[in-house]
Amino acid sequence: TPLDKIRNFSIIAHIDHGKSTLADRLIQRTGGLTEREMSAQVLDNMEIEKERGITIKAQTVRLDWKGYVLNLMDTPGHVDFAYEVSRSLAACEGALLVVDAAQGVEAQTLANVYQSIEHDHEILPVINKIDLPAAEPERVRAEIEDIIGLDASEAVLASAKSGIGIEEILDQIVAKIPSPKGDRDAPLKAMLVDSWYDPYLGVVILVRVIDGVLKKGQQIKFMQAGTTHLVDRTGCMRPKIEQLPELGPGEIGFITAQIKEVAQTMVGDTITDAKKPAAEALPGFKEVQPVVFCGLFPTDANDFEKLRESISKLRLNDASFSFEMETSAALGFGFRCGFLGLLHLEIIQERLTREYDLDLITTAPSVVYHLTLTHGGGQLELHNPADMPDPNRIEEIEEPWIEAVIYVPDEYLGPILKLCQDRRGIQKNLTYVGGRAQITYELPLNEVVFDFYDRLKSISRGYASFDYHQIGHRPGDLVKMNILVNNEPVDALSMIVHRSAAEARGRHMCERLKDLIPRHLFKIPIQAAIGGKVIARETIAALRKDVTAKCYGGDISRKKKLLDKQKEGKKRMREYGSVSIPQEAFIAALRMG
Ligand code: GDP
Ligand code: MG
Repeated sequence: TPLDKIRNFSIIAHIDHGKSTLADRLIQRTGGLTEREMSAQVLDNMEIEKERGITIKAQTVRLDWKGYVLNLMDTPGHVDFAYEVSRSLAACEGALLVVDAAQGVEAQTLANVYQSIEHDHEILPVINKIDLPAAEPERVRAEIEDIIGLDASEAVLASAKSGIGIEEILDQIVAKIPSPKGDRDAPLKAMLVDSWYDPYLGVVILVRVIDGVLKKGQQIKFMQAGTTHLVDRTGCMRPKIEQLPELGPGEIGFITAQIKEVAQTMVGDTITDAKKPAAEALPGFKEVQPVVFCGLFPTDANDFEKLRESISKLRLNDASFSFEMETSAALGFGFRCGFLGLLHLEIIQERLTREYDLDLITTAPSVVYHLTLTHGGGQLELHNPADMPDPNRIEEIEEPWIEAVIYVPDEYLGPILKLCQDRRGIQKNLTYVGGRAQITYELPLNEVVFDFYDRLKSISRGYASFDYHQIGHRPGDLVKMNILVNNEPVDALSMIVHRSAAEARGRHMCERLKDLIPRHLFKIPIQAAIGGKVIARETIAALRKDVTAKCYGGDISRKKKLLDKQKEGKKRMREYGSVSIPQEAFIAALRMG
Protein backbone atom coordinates (compact mmCIF):
# COMPACT_ATOMS: atom_id res chain seq x y z
CA THR A 1 0.00 0.00 0.00
CA PRO A 2 1.41 3.45 -0.87
CA LEU A 3 2.20 5.54 2.19
CA ASP A 4 -0.27 8.29 1.33
CA LYS A 5 -3.11 5.76 1.38
CA ILE A 6 -2.38 4.59 4.94
CA ARG A 7 -3.73 5.99 8.21
CA ASN A 8 -2.71 4.50 11.57
CA PHE A 9 -4.69 5.50 14.62
CA SER A 10 -5.58 4.36 18.10
CA ILE A 11 -8.58 5.10 20.24
CA ILE A 12 -8.06 6.62 23.64
CA ALA A 13 -10.80 6.88 26.20
CA HIS A 14 -11.58 6.56 29.85
CA ILE A 15 -12.98 3.16 30.80
CA ASP A 16 -16.62 2.79 29.75
CA HIS A 17 -16.70 5.84 27.51
CA GLY A 18 -17.33 3.60 24.51
CA LYS A 19 -13.99 2.74 22.94
CA SER A 20 -14.79 -0.89 22.18
CA THR A 21 -18.31 -0.16 20.99
CA LEU A 22 -16.99 2.49 18.61
CA ALA A 23 -14.27 0.15 17.34
CA ASP A 24 -16.88 -2.50 16.60
CA ARG A 25 -19.01 0.05 14.81
CA LEU A 26 -16.09 1.18 12.63
CA ILE A 27 -15.38 -2.45 11.70
CA GLN A 28 -19.01 -3.02 10.86
CA ARG A 29 -19.38 0.14 8.77
CA THR A 30 -16.28 -0.59 6.70
CA GLY A 31 -17.44 -4.13 6.01
CA GLY A 32 -14.88 -6.11 8.00
CA LEU A 33 -17.61 -8.36 9.32
CA THR A 34 -21.19 -9.06 8.40
CA GLU A 35 -23.94 -8.34 10.89
CA ARG A 36 -24.09 -12.02 11.67
CA GLU A 37 -20.38 -12.29 12.39
CA MET A 38 -20.42 -9.34 14.75
CA SER A 39 -20.49 -10.96 18.14
CA ALA A 40 -20.79 -8.38 20.88
CA GLN A 41 -17.50 -6.48 21.10
CA VAL A 42 -15.16 -8.16 18.68
CA LEU A 43 -11.98 -6.56 19.93
CA ASP A 44 -12.25 -7.50 23.58
CA ASN A 45 -12.18 -11.21 22.93
CA MET A 46 -11.04 -12.68 26.19
CA GLU A 47 -13.77 -13.60 28.63
CA ILE A 48 -12.33 -11.61 31.51
CA GLU A 49 -11.81 -8.62 29.24
CA LYS A 50 -15.48 -8.67 28.36
CA GLU A 51 -16.62 -8.99 31.93
CA ARG A 52 -14.36 -6.30 33.26
CA GLY A 53 -14.94 -4.20 30.17
CA ILE A 54 -11.29 -3.47 29.62
CA THR A 55 -8.83 -4.42 26.95
CA ILE A 56 -5.88 -6.35 28.30
CA LYS A 57 -3.96 -7.05 25.10
CA ALA A 58 -3.55 -4.62 22.22
CA GLN A 59 -5.61 -5.64 19.23
CA THR A 60 -5.50 -4.23 15.79
CA VAL A 61 -7.77 -4.30 12.77
CA ARG A 62 -7.39 -3.14 9.18
CA LEU A 63 -10.30 -1.16 7.73
CA ASP A 64 -10.91 -0.21 4.07
CA TRP A 65 -12.51 3.16 3.58
CA LYS A 66 -12.88 4.98 0.27
CA GLY A 67 -9.61 3.63 -1.14
CA TYR A 68 -7.64 4.14 2.07
CA VAL A 69 -6.26 1.55 4.48
CA LEU A 70 -7.03 2.51 8.08
CA ASN A 71 -5.28 0.57 10.84
CA LEU A 72 -7.09 0.77 14.14
CA MET A 73 -5.08 -0.09 17.20
CA ASP A 74 -7.03 -0.84 20.35
CA THR A 75 -4.81 -0.17 23.34
CA PRO A 76 -4.94 -1.74 26.81
CA GLY A 77 -7.16 0.27 29.11
CA HIS A 78 -5.46 0.10 32.49
CA VAL A 79 -2.55 1.80 34.26
CA ASP A 80 -0.86 -1.55 34.86
CA PHE A 81 -0.18 -1.81 31.13
CA ALA A 82 1.13 1.70 30.53
CA TYR A 83 4.26 0.55 28.66
CA GLU A 84 2.25 -1.57 26.22
CA VAL A 85 0.04 1.46 25.65
CA SER A 86 3.08 3.62 24.93
CA ARG A 87 4.31 1.14 22.27
CA SER A 88 0.88 0.95 20.65
CA LEU A 89 0.72 4.72 20.52
CA ALA A 90 4.22 4.86 19.05
CA ALA A 91 2.94 2.73 16.16
CA CYS A 92 0.33 5.34 15.18
CA GLU A 93 0.20 8.87 13.80
CA GLY A 94 -3.11 9.85 15.32
CA ALA A 95 -5.78 9.06 17.83
CA LEU A 96 -9.50 9.31 18.33
CA LEU A 97 -10.23 10.78 21.71
CA VAL A 98 -13.55 9.35 22.83
CA VAL A 99 -15.27 11.26 25.62
CA ASP A 100 -18.61 10.28 27.12
CA ALA A 101 -21.10 13.11 26.51
CA ALA A 102 -22.64 12.57 29.94
CA GLN A 103 -19.48 11.97 31.99
CA GLY A 104 -17.02 14.41 30.47
CA VAL A 105 -13.25 14.33 30.76
CA GLU A 106 -11.87 11.89 33.38
CA ALA A 107 -8.42 11.30 34.86
CA GLN A 108 -7.55 8.43 32.62
CA THR A 109 -8.59 10.33 29.54
CA LEU A 110 -6.07 12.96 30.55
CA ALA A 111 -3.24 10.52 31.17
CA ASN A 112 -3.80 8.93 27.77
CA VAL A 113 -4.11 12.22 25.95
CA TYR A 114 -0.83 13.47 27.35
CA GLN A 115 0.89 10.30 26.15
CA SER A 116 -0.69 10.72 22.76
CA ILE A 117 0.48 14.32 22.57
CA GLU A 118 3.99 13.16 23.49
CA HIS A 119 3.88 10.89 20.45
CA ASP A 120 3.00 13.92 18.27
CA HIS A 121 -0.38 12.51 17.41
CA GLU A 122 -3.07 14.34 15.59
CA ILE A 123 -5.94 13.98 18.05
CA LEU A 124 -9.54 13.93 16.84
CA PRO A 125 -12.10 14.44 19.61
CA VAL A 126 -15.26 12.34 19.44
CA ILE A 127 -18.10 13.11 21.82
CA ASN A 128 -19.84 9.78 22.26
CA LYS A 129 -23.18 8.68 23.70
CA ILE A 130 -25.07 11.73 22.46
CA ASP A 131 -28.15 9.51 22.45
CA LEU A 132 -28.23 9.53 26.26
CA PRO A 133 -30.82 11.81 27.86
CA ALA A 134 -28.11 13.07 30.22
CA ALA A 135 -25.75 13.94 27.33
CA GLU A 136 -24.36 17.47 27.41
CA PRO A 137 -22.20 17.57 24.28
CA GLU A 138 -21.62 21.33 24.40
CA ARG A 139 -20.45 21.24 28.00
CA VAL A 140 -18.12 18.35 27.15
CA ARG A 141 -16.86 20.18 24.06
CA ALA A 142 -15.93 23.13 26.27
CA GLU A 143 -14.30 20.75 28.78
CA ILE A 144 -12.11 19.22 26.09
CA GLU A 145 -10.95 22.69 25.13
CA ASP A 146 -10.49 24.03 28.68
CA ILE A 147 -9.03 20.99 30.38
CA ILE A 148 -7.08 19.32 27.61
CA GLY A 149 -6.47 22.35 25.44
CA LEU A 150 -7.51 20.72 22.17
CA ASP A 151 -9.53 22.46 19.50
CA ALA A 152 -12.87 20.70 19.75
CA SER A 153 -14.83 22.89 17.33
CA GLU A 154 -14.95 20.04 14.82
CA ALA A 155 -15.41 17.25 17.38
CA VAL A 156 -17.71 14.59 15.97
CA LEU A 157 -20.95 14.16 17.87
CA ALA A 158 -21.45 10.42 17.88
CA SER A 159 -23.34 7.52 19.29
CA ALA A 160 -21.41 4.32 18.90
CA LYS A 161 -24.46 2.50 20.13
CA SER A 162 -26.93 3.94 17.64
CA GLY A 163 -24.41 4.30 14.81
CA ILE A 164 -24.50 8.11 14.63
CA GLY A 165 -21.43 9.97 13.33
CA ILE A 166 -19.52 6.87 12.24
CA GLU A 167 -18.92 7.95 8.61
CA GLU A 168 -17.91 11.41 9.73
CA ILE A 169 -15.31 9.85 12.02
CA LEU A 170 -13.91 7.74 9.16
CA ASP A 171 -13.77 10.80 6.85
CA GLN A 172 -11.99 12.87 9.51
CA ILE A 173 -9.42 10.11 10.00
CA VAL A 174 -8.57 10.23 6.29
CA ALA A 175 -8.60 14.02 6.09
CA LYS A 176 -6.80 14.93 9.31
CA ILE A 177 -4.49 12.17 10.45
CA PRO A 178 -1.11 12.37 8.68
CA SER A 179 0.00 9.42 6.59
CA PRO A 180 3.05 7.53 7.91
CA LYS A 181 6.55 8.23 6.64
CA GLY A 182 9.04 5.53 5.72
CA ASP A 183 11.57 4.36 3.17
CA ARG A 184 10.90 1.17 1.27
CA ASP A 185 14.53 0.84 0.15
CA ALA A 186 16.10 1.33 3.58
CA PRO A 187 17.05 -1.70 5.74
CA LEU A 188 14.06 -3.24 7.49
CA LYS A 189 13.04 -1.62 10.73
CA ALA A 190 9.80 -2.71 12.34
CA MET A 191 8.51 -2.38 15.88
CA LEU A 192 7.25 -5.37 17.80
CA VAL A 193 4.02 -3.93 19.23
CA ASP A 194 2.51 -7.01 20.84
CA SER A 195 2.49 -10.78 20.64
CA TRP A 196 0.22 -13.60 21.70
CA TYR A 197 0.02 -17.34 21.44
CA ASP A 198 -2.35 -18.90 18.94
CA PRO A 199 -2.88 -22.65 19.14
CA TYR A 200 -2.81 -23.01 15.32
CA LEU A 201 -0.26 -20.39 14.30
CA GLY A 202 2.07 -20.43 17.30
CA VAL A 203 3.27 -17.02 18.46
CA VAL A 204 1.71 -14.22 16.42
CA ILE A 205 3.57 -10.91 16.40
CA LEU A 206 1.91 -7.58 15.81
CA VAL A 207 4.29 -5.23 14.00
CA ARG A 208 4.48 -1.71 12.68
CA VAL A 209 6.88 -1.45 9.77
CA ILE A 210 8.89 1.78 9.79
CA ASP A 211 11.32 1.23 6.88
CA GLY A 212 11.86 -1.62 4.46
CA VAL A 213 9.65 -4.63 3.78
CA LEU A 214 8.68 -7.79 5.70
CA LYS A 215 8.16 -10.92 3.59
CA LYS A 216 7.67 -14.63 3.92
CA GLY A 217 11.01 -16.49 3.78
CA GLN A 218 12.95 -13.54 5.17
CA GLN A 219 15.54 -14.08 7.89
CA ILE A 220 14.79 -11.51 10.60
CA LYS A 221 16.62 -10.44 13.71
CA PHE A 222 15.20 -9.10 17.00
CA MET A 223 17.73 -6.41 17.84
CA GLN A 224 17.13 -6.31 21.63
CA ALA A 225 16.68 -10.05 22.14
CA GLY A 226 19.49 -10.84 19.69
CA THR A 227 17.67 -13.83 18.17
CA THR A 228 17.02 -14.63 14.51
CA HIS A 229 13.91 -16.23 13.02
CA LEU A 230 12.46 -17.18 9.66
CA VAL A 231 9.25 -15.37 8.67
CA ASP A 232 6.62 -17.85 7.53
CA ARG A 233 3.54 -15.64 7.28
CA THR A 234 2.72 -11.97 6.88
CA GLY A 235 -0.78 -10.59 7.03
CA CYS A 236 -3.38 -8.43 8.68
CA MET A 237 -6.54 -8.79 10.70
CA ARG A 238 -9.88 -7.56 9.45
CA PRO A 239 -10.36 -8.77 12.25
CA LYS A 240 -10.28 -12.21 10.66
CA ILE A 241 -6.76 -13.21 9.75
CA GLU A 242 -5.85 -12.54 6.14
CA GLN A 243 -2.47 -13.35 4.64
CA LEU A 244 -0.74 -10.65 2.62
CA PRO A 245 2.29 -11.08 0.33
CA GLU A 246 4.24 -8.47 2.32
CA LEU A 247 4.08 -5.66 4.84
CA GLY A 248 5.63 -2.44 3.57
CA PRO A 249 6.65 0.82 5.29
CA GLY A 250 3.91 2.46 7.34
CA GLU A 251 1.89 -0.73 7.54
CA ILE A 252 0.60 -2.47 10.64
CA GLY A 253 0.06 -6.21 10.48
CA PHE A 254 1.19 -9.52 11.88
CA ILE A 255 3.93 -12.01 11.20
CA THR A 256 4.58 -15.53 12.39
CA ALA A 257 8.11 -16.90 12.50
CA GLN A 258 7.96 -20.38 14.03
CA ILE A 259 8.29 -18.96 17.53
CA LYS A 260 7.07 -21.22 20.31
CA GLU A 261 6.85 -18.93 23.32
CA VAL A 262 5.69 -15.39 23.85
CA ALA A 263 8.57 -15.01 26.31
CA GLN A 264 10.93 -14.97 23.28
CA THR A 265 9.37 -11.72 22.10
CA MET A 266 9.72 -8.38 23.83
CA VAL A 267 7.25 -5.56 23.33
CA GLY A 268 9.07 -2.59 21.81
CA ASP A 269 11.87 -4.65 20.25
CA THR A 270 13.13 -3.71 16.79
CA ILE A 271 12.81 -6.27 14.02
CA THR A 272 15.36 -5.98 11.25
CA ASP A 273 16.69 -8.02 8.32
CA ALA A 274 19.32 -10.44 9.58
CA LYS A 275 21.32 -10.13 6.32
CA LYS A 276 20.97 -6.38 5.91
CA PRO A 277 20.40 -5.03 9.43
CA ALA A 278 19.46 -1.50 10.40
CA ALA A 279 22.24 0.57 11.96
CA GLU A 280 20.36 1.21 15.19
CA ALA A 281 17.29 0.05 17.07
CA LEU A 282 14.14 2.10 17.53
CA PRO A 283 14.02 4.36 20.60
CA GLY A 284 11.79 3.81 23.63
CA PHE A 285 12.46 0.14 24.31
CA LYS A 286 12.06 -0.96 27.93
CA GLU A 287 12.24 -4.40 29.42
CA VAL A 288 9.05 -4.89 31.42
CA GLN A 289 9.58 -5.63 35.09
CA PRO A 290 6.99 -6.89 37.54
CA VAL A 291 6.30 -4.38 40.34
CA VAL A 292 3.98 -6.27 42.67
CA PHE A 293 4.81 -9.70 44.08
CA CYS A 294 2.82 -12.21 46.04
CA GLY A 295 2.77 -15.90 46.84
CA LEU A 296 0.18 -18.17 45.24
CA PHE A 297 -0.44 -21.44 47.04
CA PRO A 298 -2.92 -24.21 46.32
CA THR A 299 -5.50 -24.64 49.06
CA ASP A 300 -5.14 -28.35 48.60
CA ALA A 301 -1.47 -29.32 48.76
CA ASN A 302 -2.15 -32.08 46.20
CA ASP A 303 -2.86 -29.42 43.58
CA PHE A 304 0.71 -28.16 43.51
CA GLU A 305 1.60 -29.90 40.22
CA LYS A 306 -1.63 -28.73 38.67
CA LEU A 307 -0.81 -25.18 39.74
CA ARG A 308 2.65 -25.46 38.23
CA GLU A 309 1.22 -26.61 34.90
CA SER A 310 -1.48 -23.95 34.86
CA ILE A 311 0.92 -21.13 35.67
CA SER A 312 3.30 -22.34 32.97
CA LYS A 313 0.46 -22.36 30.45
CA LEU A 314 -0.64 -18.84 31.33
CA ARG A 315 2.92 -17.66 31.11
CA LEU A 316 3.03 -18.96 27.50
CA ASN A 317 0.76 -16.07 26.63
CA ASP A 318 1.89 -13.44 29.08
CA ALA A 319 5.59 -12.85 29.39
CA SER A 320 5.05 -9.94 31.77
CA PHE A 321 4.42 -12.02 34.86
CA SER A 322 7.12 -14.04 36.53
CA PHE A 323 7.06 -17.00 38.87
CA GLU A 324 9.41 -19.12 40.89
CA MET A 325 8.84 -21.84 43.42
CA GLU A 326 8.40 -20.84 47.02
CA THR A 327 7.91 -22.79 50.20
CA SER A 328 6.16 -21.47 53.23
CA ALA A 329 5.94 -23.09 56.63
CA ALA A 330 2.28 -22.15 56.81
CA LEU A 331 1.21 -22.77 53.24
CA GLY A 332 3.51 -25.47 51.92
CA PHE A 333 4.63 -25.45 48.28
CA GLY A 334 3.59 -22.63 46.00
CA PHE A 335 4.94 -19.91 43.74
CA ARG A 336 6.24 -16.42 44.21
CA CYS A 337 4.73 -14.46 41.32
CA GLY A 338 5.46 -10.99 39.98
CA PHE A 339 2.89 -8.76 38.26
CA LEU A 340 2.70 -5.40 36.54
CA GLY A 341 0.16 -4.24 39.11
CA LEU A 342 -2.77 -5.35 41.21
CA LEU A 343 -5.19 -5.64 38.34
CA HIS A 344 -2.73 -7.84 36.52
CA LEU A 345 -2.45 -9.97 39.68
CA GLU A 346 -6.22 -10.26 39.92
CA ILE A 347 -6.54 -11.24 36.28
CA ILE A 348 -3.99 -14.03 36.58
CA GLN A 349 -5.51 -15.22 39.85
CA GLU A 350 -8.97 -15.17 38.33
CA ARG A 351 -7.86 -17.11 35.26
CA LEU A 352 -6.18 -19.75 37.41
CA THR A 353 -9.35 -20.10 39.45
CA ARG A 354 -11.77 -20.04 36.56
CA GLU A 355 -10.01 -21.57 33.58
CA TYR A 356 -7.92 -24.06 35.53
CA ASP A 357 -10.32 -24.70 38.38
CA LEU A 358 -7.82 -24.09 41.16
CA ASP A 359 -8.51 -23.04 44.72
CA LEU A 360 -5.78 -20.60 45.76
CA ILE A 361 -4.41 -18.70 48.70
CA THR A 362 -2.75 -15.39 47.97
CA THR A 363 -0.26 -13.93 50.43
CA ALA A 364 0.19 -10.23 51.15
CA PRO A 365 1.20 -8.40 47.97
CA SER A 366 4.57 -6.75 48.28
CA VAL A 367 6.41 -4.21 46.21
CA VAL A 368 10.13 -4.36 45.43
CA TYR A 369 12.36 -2.78 48.06
CA HIS A 370 15.95 -1.76 47.53
CA LEU A 371 18.18 -2.60 50.46
CA THR A 372 21.67 -1.37 51.17
CA LEU A 373 23.48 -3.72 53.51
CA THR A 374 25.93 -2.65 56.21
CA HIS A 375 29.68 -3.30 56.12
CA GLY A 376 29.82 -2.96 52.34
CA GLY A 377 27.39 -5.86 51.95
CA GLY A 378 26.12 -4.31 48.74
CA GLN A 379 22.62 -3.91 47.34
CA LEU A 380 19.68 -6.28 47.54
CA GLU A 381 16.31 -6.35 45.80
CA LEU A 382 13.66 -7.65 48.14
CA HIS A 383 10.46 -9.17 46.71
CA ASN A 384 9.34 -11.18 49.70
CA PRO A 385 9.08 -9.95 53.31
CA ALA A 386 10.07 -13.46 54.40
CA ASP A 387 13.55 -12.86 52.92
CA MET A 388 14.19 -9.68 54.89
CA PRO A 389 17.66 -9.81 56.45
CA ASP A 390 18.27 -9.09 60.11
CA PRO A 391 17.71 -5.35 60.79
CA ASN A 392 21.29 -4.76 61.97
CA ARG A 393 22.54 -5.92 58.57
CA ILE A 394 20.49 -3.18 56.87
CA GLU A 395 21.97 0.24 56.27
CA GLU A 396 19.00 1.65 54.37
CA ILE A 397 15.71 0.56 52.80
CA GLU A 398 14.23 2.30 49.81
CA GLU A 399 10.65 1.87 48.65
CA PRO A 400 9.02 2.66 45.29
CA TRP A 401 6.94 5.83 44.99
CA ILE A 402 4.30 6.79 42.49
CA GLU A 403 2.74 9.99 41.27
CA ALA A 404 -1.02 9.69 41.23
CA VAL A 405 -3.58 11.92 39.55
CA ILE A 406 -7.01 11.73 41.09
CA TYR A 407 -10.07 13.36 39.65
CA VAL A 408 -13.01 13.72 41.99
CA PRO A 409 -16.23 15.71 42.37
CA ASP A 410 -15.90 18.48 44.97
CA GLU A 411 -18.15 16.92 47.58
CA TYR A 412 -15.82 13.95 48.10
CA LEU A 413 -12.63 15.98 48.19
CA GLY A 414 -12.21 16.07 51.98
CA PRO A 415 -12.30 12.31 52.60
CA ILE A 416 -10.08 11.64 49.57
CA LEU A 417 -7.44 14.06 50.84
CA LYS A 418 -7.60 12.34 54.22
CA LEU A 419 -7.15 8.94 52.57
CA CYS A 420 -4.07 10.16 50.70
CA GLN A 421 -2.70 11.78 53.83
CA ASP A 422 -3.23 8.58 55.86
CA ARG A 423 -1.27 6.70 53.23
CA ARG A 424 1.75 8.99 53.66
CA GLY A 425 0.89 10.98 50.56
CA ILE A 426 2.57 14.25 49.65
CA GLN A 427 0.22 16.66 47.95
CA LYS A 428 1.75 18.24 44.87
CA ASN A 429 -1.15 20.00 43.26
CA LEU A 430 -4.85 20.74 43.65
CA THR A 431 -6.89 22.47 40.99
CA TYR A 432 -10.57 22.83 40.23
CA VAL A 433 -12.02 22.21 36.82
CA GLY A 434 -15.75 22.47 36.27
CA GLY A 435 -16.96 21.44 39.73
CA ARG A 436 -14.34 18.76 40.07
CA ALA A 437 -11.00 18.67 41.77
CA GLN A 438 -7.86 17.36 40.16
CA ILE A 439 -5.40 16.26 42.81
CA THR A 440 -1.83 15.21 42.28
CA TYR A 441 -0.19 13.21 45.05
CA GLU A 442 3.07 11.41 45.52
CA LEU A 443 2.43 8.17 47.36
CA PRO A 444 4.49 5.16 48.43
CA LEU A 445 3.42 2.27 46.20
CA ASN A 446 3.21 -0.04 49.21
CA GLU A 447 0.38 2.08 50.62
CA VAL A 448 -1.50 1.79 47.34
CA VAL A 449 -1.26 -1.89 46.50
CA PHE A 450 -3.49 -3.17 49.26
CA ASP A 451 -6.83 -1.51 48.92
CA PHE A 452 -6.28 2.12 47.98
CA TYR A 453 -8.26 1.90 44.76
CA ASP A 454 -11.20 0.17 46.46
CA ARG A 455 -11.23 2.76 49.23
CA LEU A 456 -11.08 5.57 46.73
CA LYS A 457 -14.04 4.17 44.84
CA SER A 458 -16.13 3.52 47.93
CA ILE A 459 -15.43 6.92 49.49
CA SER A 460 -16.45 8.67 46.27
CA ARG A 461 -19.29 6.30 45.39
CA GLY A 462 -17.41 5.34 42.28
CA TYR A 463 -16.91 8.91 41.01
CA ALA A 464 -13.21 9.29 41.66
CA SER A 465 -10.81 8.20 38.97
CA PHE A 466 -7.20 7.37 39.50
CA ASP A 467 -4.11 7.05 37.38
CA TYR A 468 -0.48 6.63 38.37
CA HIS A 469 3.05 6.08 37.23
CA GLN A 470 6.21 5.19 39.15
CA ILE A 471 8.67 7.92 40.04
CA GLY A 472 11.51 5.89 41.56
CA HIS A 473 12.69 4.62 44.95
CA ARG A 474 13.06 6.74 48.09
CA PRO A 475 14.43 5.89 51.53
CA GLY A 476 11.83 5.12 54.17
CA ASP A 477 11.66 4.05 57.80
CA LEU A 478 10.43 0.58 56.96
CA VAL A 479 10.30 -2.44 59.19
CA LYS A 480 9.28 -6.05 58.89
CA MET A 481 6.28 -6.91 61.01
CA ASN A 482 5.88 -10.53 62.01
CA ILE A 483 2.64 -12.10 63.09
CA LEU A 484 3.03 -14.79 65.73
CA VAL A 485 0.33 -17.32 66.41
CA ASN A 486 0.93 -19.32 69.57
CA ASN A 487 4.42 -17.79 69.69
CA GLU A 488 5.37 -18.99 66.23
CA PRO A 489 5.87 -16.55 63.33
CA VAL A 490 3.49 -17.15 60.38
CA ASP A 491 5.66 -16.22 57.42
CA ALA A 492 2.80 -15.82 54.95
CA LEU A 493 1.38 -13.01 57.06
CA SER A 494 4.58 -11.07 57.58
CA MET A 495 4.77 -7.74 55.80
CA ILE A 496 6.93 -4.71 55.40
CA VAL A 497 5.33 -1.58 56.80
CA HIS A 498 6.26 1.97 57.61
CA ARG A 499 7.17 2.27 61.27
CA SER A 500 4.53 4.94 61.83
CA ALA A 501 1.80 2.64 60.52
CA ALA A 502 3.06 -0.55 62.14
CA GLU A 503 1.17 -0.38 65.40
CA ALA A 504 -2.22 0.34 63.84
CA ARG A 505 -1.71 -2.31 61.17
CA GLY A 506 -0.50 -4.79 63.78
CA ARG A 507 -3.44 -4.21 66.07
CA HIS A 508 -5.84 -4.57 63.19
CA MET A 509 -4.25 -7.85 62.08
CA CYS A 510 -4.41 -9.29 65.58
CA GLU A 511 -8.08 -8.32 65.97
CA ARG A 512 -8.92 -9.86 62.62
CA LEU A 513 -7.09 -13.07 63.36
CA LYS A 514 -8.73 -13.35 66.75
CA ASP A 515 -12.09 -13.54 64.98
CA LEU A 516 -10.87 -15.79 62.20
CA ILE A 517 -9.02 -18.49 64.11
CA PRO A 518 -11.32 -20.92 65.93
CA ARG A 519 -10.85 -21.68 69.60
CA HIS A 520 -8.63 -24.54 70.54
CA LEU A 521 -8.22 -26.58 73.70
CA PHE A 522 -5.62 -24.13 74.89
CA LYS A 523 -5.19 -20.38 75.01
CA ILE A 524 -3.64 -18.92 71.81
CA PRO A 525 -1.73 -15.68 71.97
CA ILE A 526 -1.69 -13.67 68.71
CA GLN A 527 1.01 -11.07 68.47
CA ALA A 528 2.36 -8.55 66.04
CA ALA A 529 6.04 -7.93 66.54
CA ILE A 530 8.89 -5.94 65.09
CA GLY A 531 12.07 -7.85 65.78
CA GLY A 532 11.69 -9.05 69.37
CA LYS A 533 9.31 -6.25 70.32
CA VAL A 534 5.61 -7.03 70.54
CA ILE A 535 3.55 -4.06 69.34
CA ALA A 536 0.06 -5.56 69.50
CA ARG A 537 -1.52 -8.61 71.04
CA GLU A 538 -4.80 -10.48 71.35
CA THR A 539 -5.60 -13.78 73.01
CA ILE A 540 -8.00 -16.44 71.88
CA ALA A 541 -9.47 -18.02 74.98
CA ALA A 542 -9.40 -21.81 75.35
CA LEU A 543 -12.53 -23.79 74.59
CA ARG A 544 -14.62 -23.59 77.71
CA LYS A 545 -16.16 -27.00 77.42
CA ASP A 546 -13.08 -29.14 77.39
CA VAL A 547 -13.99 -32.13 75.25
CA THR A 548 -11.07 -34.11 76.64
CA ALA A 549 -11.74 -33.34 80.29
CA LYS A 550 -13.36 -36.67 80.95
CA CYS A 551 -10.27 -38.51 79.79
CA TYR A 552 -7.91 -37.08 82.34
CA GLY A 553 -5.53 -39.65 83.67
CA GLY A 554 -7.37 -42.26 81.70
CA ASP A 555 -7.66 -43.53 78.22
CA ILE A 556 -5.07 -41.79 76.04
CA SER A 557 -6.24 -43.41 72.79
CA ARG A 558 -9.78 -42.18 73.41
CA LYS A 559 -8.45 -38.68 73.88
CA LYS A 560 -6.58 -38.95 70.60
CA LYS A 561 -9.67 -40.15 68.78
CA LEU A 562 -11.63 -37.17 70.02
CA LEU A 563 -8.98 -34.78 68.79
CA ASP A 564 -8.81 -36.52 65.42
CA LYS A 565 -12.55 -36.14 65.07
CA GLN A 566 -12.27 -32.43 65.72
CA LYS A 567 -9.63 -32.14 63.06
CA GLU A 568 -11.78 -33.81 60.42
CA GLY A 569 -14.26 -30.99 60.77
CA LYS A 570 -11.53 -28.54 59.86
CA LYS A 571 -10.75 -29.22 56.26
CA ARG A 572 -9.37 -26.17 54.48
CA MET A 573 -7.31 -25.33 57.49
CA ARG A 574 -3.60 -25.11 57.82
CA GLU A 575 -1.96 -26.79 60.76
CA TYR A 576 0.43 -24.30 62.15
CA GLY A 577 2.42 -25.75 64.94
CA SER A 578 -0.40 -26.94 67.12
CA VAL A 579 -2.86 -24.34 65.81
CA SER A 580 -5.23 -24.68 62.85
CA ILE A 581 -5.66 -21.53 60.79
CA PRO A 582 -8.54 -21.38 58.29
CA GLN A 583 -7.62 -20.49 54.70
CA GLU A 584 -9.83 -17.40 54.66
CA ALA A 585 -7.81 -15.96 57.53
CA PHE A 586 -4.78 -15.44 55.34
CA ILE A 587 -6.51 -13.15 52.91
CA ALA A 588 -9.07 -11.65 55.25
CA ALA A 589 -6.41 -10.56 57.70
CA LEU A 590 -4.60 -8.65 54.99
CA ARG A 591 -7.56 -6.48 54.07
CA MET A 592 -7.17 -3.31 56.02
CA GLY A 593 -10.91 -2.63 56.24
P1 GDP B 1 -14.84 1.02 26.74
O1 GDP B 1 -14.56 0.64 28.17
O2 GDP B 1 -14.38 2.43 26.47
O3 GDP B 1 -14.34 0.03 25.73
O4 GDP B 1 -16.43 1.11 26.63
P2 GDP B 1 -17.45 0.13 25.94
O5 GDP B 1 -17.42 0.26 24.48
O6 GDP B 1 -17.28 -1.23 26.51
O7 GDP B 1 -18.81 0.79 26.43
C1 GDP B 1 -19.15 0.91 27.79
C2 GDP B 1 -20.66 0.93 27.95
O8 GDP B 1 -21.22 2.06 27.30
C3 GDP B 1 -21.32 -0.28 27.30
O9 GDP B 1 -22.38 -0.69 28.10
C4 GDP B 1 -21.81 0.25 25.96
O10 GDP B 1 -22.95 -0.45 25.48
C5 GDP B 1 -22.17 1.68 26.31
N1 GDP B 1 -22.06 2.58 25.17
C6 GDP B 1 -21.02 2.69 24.31
N2 GDP B 1 -21.29 3.63 23.38
C7 GDP B 1 -22.52 4.12 23.67
C8 GDP B 1 -23.36 5.13 23.07
O11 GDP B 1 -23.04 5.76 22.07
N3 GDP B 1 -24.55 5.35 23.68
C9 GDP B 1 -24.94 4.67 24.80
N4 GDP B 1 -26.14 4.98 25.31
N5 GDP B 1 -24.20 3.74 25.36
C10 GDP B 1 -23.00 3.45 24.82
MG1 MG C 1 -13.34 -1.75 25.97
